[in-house]
Amino acid sequence: MDKMKKDFTPTLLDFGPLQIYLARHFGFCYGVENAIEIAFKTVEENPGKRIFLLSEMIHNPQVNADLQAHGIEFLQDTYGKTLIPFEVVKPDDIVLIPAFGTTLEIEKKLTETGIRTEKYNTTCPFVEKVWNRSEAIAQKNYTVVIHGKPKHEETRATFSHAASNAPAVIVKDMEQTKELAKYITGEKPSSLFYEEFKGQYSEGFDAQKDLEQIGVVNQTTMLASDTQAIADYLKQTMVMKYKLTVSAIEEHFADTRDTLCYATNDNQTAVTGMLETRADLAIVVGGYNSSNTSHLVELCEQKLPVYFINDEKKILSSKEILHYNFHIKEEILTNNYLPEKYPIKILLTSGASCPDALVEGIIKKLAGFYFAGSRAEEMIKQFE
Ligand code: SF4
Repeated sequence: MDKMKKDFTPTLLDFGPLQIYLARHFGFCYGVENAIEIAFKTVEENPGKRIFLLSEMIHNPQVNADLQAHGIEFLQDTYGKTLIPFEVVKPDDIVLIPAFGTTLEIEKKLTETGIRTEKYNTTCPFVEKVWNRSEAIAQKNYTVVIHGKPKHEETRATFSHAASNAPAVIVKDMEQTKELAKYITGEKPSSLFYEEFKGQYSEGFDAQKDLEQIGVVNQTTMLASDTQAIADYLKQTMVMKYKLTVSAIEEHFADTRDTLCYATNDNQTAVTGMLETRADLAIVVGGYNSSNTSHLVELCEQKLPVYFINDEKKILSSKEILHYNFHIKEEILTNNYLPEKYPIKILLTSGASCPDALVEGIIKKLAGFYFAGSRAEEMIKQFE
């Protein structure tokens, strides 16, 4: 009903003593739905064939477990560590490329094995858009600065594509961006760059010459405000170093907008809209290694207590919840997470790789604590 996506107010699910505010946009994105559909279709159409996935299809444990239950095997873990050696793959096997895309090196390896990667490639078009953007920057002789998590599959893939066209370097956050800026201004000698940015720059990178002209792209699931701040900081660094007037900025800094995907933008804006409602706590659902989900948590934690869970089972009871603290990368147990007040207001959202069924399960579980389980069933029917 809101085709132009102008309304970011959450949907109120009113159970009387429990009020759940569901983010206007949440959960599965186009890229993830597309990838899952291709994966299951591939299984259906190829009985008896060995089917591999390069790594996790998406960052969601339930979806990955489901794929494995259908006989799909993973060649690598999410950090690129080998689970099954590539040598095991034979030309008549099928290898699916996940939604994050993959590096040119891996693509080459598979092609050399005789695997037709193009047929079972589920790379999201929004990731490909970033590759195209970095190629466009590279053609104008800019170095590509990638704001992303260096170990994330998508950033590794984007880095590989960018590095095939131009010098490239990854910055993971503002702290690293400020250090990179010191090499631009000359505050730090370029000889220190190689150790400090080890594993994050392309082969043959010249820290003196290759930081004179830069452009920024980002992993599609970063926090919009972080990417904006990073691009602004680097732009300002260039303006000061080269004493640039507004019309001359492009001589040293490519004019690009962020390369976040629509789902990241929609889900983040919906969380910002949801946070305008005063509530007691927030629950964010998604895989613990999901980048876009952790950013939704980051937005919520600025305002209220937030519980990051990957399953309804993590809600142990109305008193105890097991939830993930992504800062320390650990699951922790919290007691008395539901304050004793009526009505209690809970904000709820989920990441782009989280099936809606998980959100539904959480709504039903919470409603059950307030003897409103049957109302939950009725309410869900309205949306079917
Ligand atoms: S989060 Fe965005 S880029 Fe990633 S798969 Fe979904 S739509 Fe594609």
